[in-house]
Amino acid sequence: MSFKNLNLINPIIRAVTEAGYSKPTEIQYSAIPHILAGNDIIACAKTGTGKTAAFAMPILQLLKKHTPEHKEIRTLILTPTRELAIQIEENLGIYSKYLPLSQLSIFGGVLAGGQLAALRKRVDILVATPGRLLDLVNQRHIDLSKLEILVLDEADRMLEMECVNDVKKILKLVPQKRQTLFFSATMSPDIRKFAESILNNPVEVTG
Ligand code: AMP
Repeated sequence: MSFKNLNLINPIIRAVTEAGYSKPTEIQYSAIPHILAGNDIIACAKTGTGKTAAFAMPILQLLKKHTPEHKEIRTLILTPTRELAIQIEENLGIYSKYLPLSQLSIFGGVLAGGQLAALRKRVDILVATPGRLLDLVNQRHIDLSKLEILVLDEADRMLEMECVNDVKKILKLVPQKRQTLFFSATMSPDIRKFAESILNNPVEVTG
């Protein structure tokens, strides 16, 4: 099985090949066709399985048809920690090398000034920790009303941490009509129940 078999477009295949990836991992193989088809997914995958590329590559492909009127944030990736936010932004930068798309990460623990300056430019994909995102939405620096795709990365960790209430508040601020991708390393009955409450007819995949 190759990246081409997954119907990924050449600019993405070229970028990941240059990054040293020769074939899709298990989670990429099982998740990418459903994401490209526009389905919601609930994915059980641990760090190290290639889960970031499993959502990042098809999202870039879905967004590639950007037009000048696409000025607002189109994809939001929520992740529990600053380290993960930076890592996801870096990976998006590698995979989008040959596409006209831009990404930005925002997280707490640092002054917001630099993030605010970066938000003034076009951002197609925003990677964020819940607390900082909510602060900047409340201060009207971020508009989520045009969101097309929402990703919850490491959802189990986000729900365990105190940010669970922030995640719930953010879910009230994003459009009802959207594609939602729910990634979690573990799938307890509580996590599954929460996932099902925010997903629409999800396809279940594992890595
Ligand atoms: P993740 O599970 O997203 O933390 O990814 C773990 C590591 O696997 C990262 O360093 C990725 O760059 C790498 N990776 C992701 N997909 C592939 C692939 N198809 N082939 C080789 N390495 C990959």
